[in-house]
Amino acid sequence: MGYFRENIEKAKGYEPGFQPKESNVVKLNTNENPYPPSPKVMKVLSEISPEQLRRYPDPMGSAFRQAAAEVNSVQPDYIMCCNGGDELLKMAFQAFCDENRPVAYPVPTYSLYPVLAKLQNCKAVEIPFDNEFNLPAKLAGTGAALTIVCNPNAPTGSFINVDELASLADEASGVLLIDEAYVDFAEKNCTALVKDFDNVIILRSMSKGYSLAGLRFGYAIAKPDLITGLIKVKDSYNVDAVAIAIATAAIRDQDYFRKTVEKVIAERTRLTGQLRNLGFDVPDSSSNFILAECKNSPSRLGLAETGRAAEIYEKLTRRNIFVRYFAYPELKEKLRITIGTPEQNDTLLSALKEILQE
Ligand SMILES: *Cc1c(COP(=O)(O)O)cnc(C)c1O
Repeated sequence: MGYFRENIEKAKGYEPGFQPKESNVVKLNTNENPYPPSPKVMKVLSEISPEQLRRYPDPMGSAFRQAAAEVNSVQPDYIMCCNGGDELLKMAFQAFCDENRPVAYPVPTYSLYPVLAKLQNCKAVEIPFDNEFNLPAKLAGTGAALTIVCNPNAPTGSFINVDELASLADEASGVLLIDEAYVDFAEKNCTALVKDFDNVIILRSMSKGYSLAGLRFGYAIAKPDLITGLIKVKDSYNVDAVAIAIATAAIRDQDYFRKTVEKVIAERTRLTGQLRNLGFDVPDSSSNFILAECKNSPSRLGLAETGRAAEIYEKLTRRNIFVRYFAYPELKEKLRITIGTPEQNDTLLSALKEILQE
C-alpha cells in the first residue's frame, strides 16, 4: 500500500479486552467497576441543557480541575483533564519521545505502552520485573526521556512503595510518569511526589474507581511547568461539555466513591481467599483485579503449549463468564480476573469448582 509511515504500517495496534454484546454475561475481563456511578452523576446527566451542547466546552475543564485539585490537595494549575487516562499516555509519548528519545518501563505491564512506542517510532527499553514484581534497579539508569511505572501494576496488581518511586524520580534523567489508573483501590498513592519533583506526572482515571469507563475521562497531576508543556500537545477541546459536568459530579461525591471502593476491596479479599482454597496461587492485589496462577495439573485438553490457564479461560467463556487471558510467556499460566459484585464472584467460583473437577 505504502500510504502509511513505515512504523504505522508495521504496528499491530492495541487489542482491547472483548466487549460482549449480550447483557446476561458475567464480565470480569476489562477491570470495570461492577457498581453504577454515583446517583448524583445520573442527575447531572439528566439536566444537561441544549446550551451546554451548542457551545464549545471549557478548553481546560475548569470545574473538574478545581474539584480534582481539592480532592488531591494541590492547586488547580497542577491538573490537566484528559479524554481517558489513555489520552495522557499518548500525549506523553508525543511530548517526550521520538527516534532519539526512548521510553522505558518494567514488564509485564499495561500492553498499551509498547503500542504507543511503535506509533511514536521511539525505542522501548523493557526491563523485566523479578518474581516478586519489585522495581528493577536498572530502570533508573536507562537514560530514557520517559519512564513509565504502572502502580498498582497491571496485570499483576502489585504495588511499589512511594519512597522507591521517589528515588527513581530523583535518579531518572527524564520524566517519570506514574500510571495510577488503579490507585483508588490501593492504600497509598504518589501524589505528594509532584510537589518534590519537577519530572513527575501522575496519571489518574475515572474509569475504574468512579465507574465511568464509558465516559472517557482521566487527568494528569504534575508541576505547572509540565502541565503547560502537555497542554501544547492536547486537542483544544479534548474533554467534552457533558463529560466535564459528569466527571466533576463524580469526583465531588467522595462518600459514594469511598463506599463503592470499599465494597470492591472487601470482595477482593474474599475472592482471593476462595481462589486460594481452590488451589490457585493468588498474590495480594492492590487493584480491582487479581492475577490467579493455575499451578495445579497440566492441561488435559492437549493444549500443552498454552496450558491450564487457557483451558480454564475457554471453559469459562463457554459459560458466558469472561476473564482476561494473556498469551505472553510470563503470563500464560495466569488469568486476570476483575473483582465483580458478590453474586458475579459466586457465579465465577462455582463455575471454577465444576471446571476443576471435570
Ligand atoms: C484503565 C487504565 C488506564 C486509563 O484508562 P482510561 O479508561 O483511558 O482512563 C491507564 N492505565 C492503565 C494501566 C489502565 O488499566
